[in-house]
Amino acid sequence: MTGPKINTRFIFVTGGVTSSLGKGIISASLAKLLQARGYTVTIQKLDPYINIDPGTLNPYEHGECYVTDDGAETDLDLGHYERFLNVPTSQANNVTTGKIYQSVISKERQGNYLGETVQVIPHITDEIKYRIKLLADKNEFDFVITEIGGTVGDIESLPYIEAIRQMKWEMGSNCLVIHLTLIPYLAAARELKTKPTQHSVKTMLEYGVQPDILVCRTERPLNDHIRNKIALFCNVDVSSVIESIDTSSIYKVPLLMQDEKLDRVVLKKTKVSAKQPPNMKRWRAFINRLESPKHTVEIGLVGKYVELVDSYKSIIESLIHAGTVNNCKVNLRLIHSEHIGKDNLKEKLSGLKGVIVAPGFGNRGIEGKILAINYLRTNGIPFMAICLGMQCAMIEFARNVLDLPGAHSTEMNPATADPIIDIMEEQKKVHIKGGTMRLGAFSCKISRPSRVFDIYGSEVISERHRHRFEVNNHYLKRFEDAGMSAPGINPESGLVEIIELKGHPWFVGVQFHPEYKSTVDAPHPLFIDFVKASSMI
Ligand code: GLN
Repeated sequence: MTGPKINTRFIFVTGGVTSSLGKGIISASLAKLLQARGYTVTIQKLDPYINIDPGTLNPYEHGECYVTDDGAETDLDLGHYERFLNVPTSQANNVTTGKIYQSVISKERQGNYLGETVQVIPHITDEIKYRIKLLADKNEFDFVITEIGGTVGDIESLPYIEAIRQMKWEMGSNCLVIHLTLIPYLAAARELKTKPTQHSVKTMLEYGVQPDILVCRTERPLNDHIRNKIALFCNVDVSSVIESIDTSSIYKVPLLMQDEKLDRVVLKKTKVSAKQPPNMKRWRAFINRLESPKHTVEIGLVGKYVELVDSYKSIIESLIHAGTVNNCKVNLRLIHSEHIGKDNLKEKLSGLKGVIVAPGFGNRGIEGKILAINYLRTNGIPFMAICLGMQCAMIEFARNVLDLPGAHSTEMNPATADPIIDIMEEQKKVHIKGGTMRLGAFSCKISRPSRVFDIYGSEVISERHRHRFEVNNHYLKRFEDAGMSAPGINPESGLVEIIELKGHPWFVGVQFHPEYKSTVDAPHPLFIDFVKASSMI
């Protein structure tokens, strides 16, 4: 990465009216356009909840937990940032209120504030500002885009809005606020309504922050009348009223924002002279492939959180990326592992050309996953197993091929006769849950001949992990003798990272999470090959 060409500009993205308007996608889209103009950009998410990180949160509450190279368990928006920018994020890119308070309280205990009353202003707001400016410290970035989680008006986001107010005051035009809001369409009145936006900007004004740009999420195009009205009531110029219309794919949003000139307005307002227009050639080529697939392929995803697609966000996006490389559209069938039984197994999996068994924790739905894997293994259906999925694949194989009927993971059955998946020795001493798994990037050595060597084309790879349990190497020889090999091994610890099954059209299990590394610019080779194999069946 080259160094900054300008003094770092700080851009804040806040949300009004309601949650789920897509602040993460707007932040990532703006970042993409600035990157495509040759600037260096990073995106940060500030989450107003008190958990230190989302690692201990139920996916039903907060969707997928994304993992960075340096082992941070983060909000799923960081996945979007990486998928759009193709630049890794780190611990510093996701900060929660829990982290802010933890650090202020620990400083207080150390005596850093001796004699002072420690308060939200200035101590908490100073810590927030410090965490934002930290990203500019190494002089790597022209732009730091900071997305504030939650909705303006929430009690818990107040200190963040106050920190923004202070930074704007200190930095003037080096600091800019984009407020994302909703313009609802009322069918009965046949009208788009600006009132919720006016109110949400008023709330910002009460806190002392005038948004510079309004990005208006809408089902229908905004006409000039509406744009002028929003501009007038919200004290922004009309060119700073940006329409963000609903679209069929998140990947089209950067192009919509380019049409609306969001990047140009940002450069103008932050007084950065625009040198080159954004080069979006590669991105447009990706969209063209996405929009005109030559064929479709139906792929199944077996998991226990399928009611909420956000729980498997990175897997779903990786399949979209891999589909475009294969000129095909992946139609995803989500299958609830708790609903799979012997009697409906065939029906649940019928017609699928490939299946992924998802990562996860705990016993719920585990036997359904194992039944599904047995069907996929014995019927030669392309199968990719991720983390817990790989552990289940080995349990299935141990029970039905190695003749170890009681085989299990000690996570599900600590008293199992054959603990083929077991907790690592050093993990046995760990009793606290937050941030203590095997987390982040580890290298893996690939032996050949193997399918995965052909796929990666490299002997040493690096992939991200998030798990506590591991293959028990005591059983490994038996697996290998029966046709399930382990071509991927961690060179330091000897832990099994990849398994594959000989004589099957495509059967690969990985202890790591390849889905965290697939991006628009660099779709992941495992997903590409899996979709290719599924398209051929
Ligand atoms: N529960 C398993 C473990 O902790 C797998 C975790 C996962 O799938 N991410 O090892």
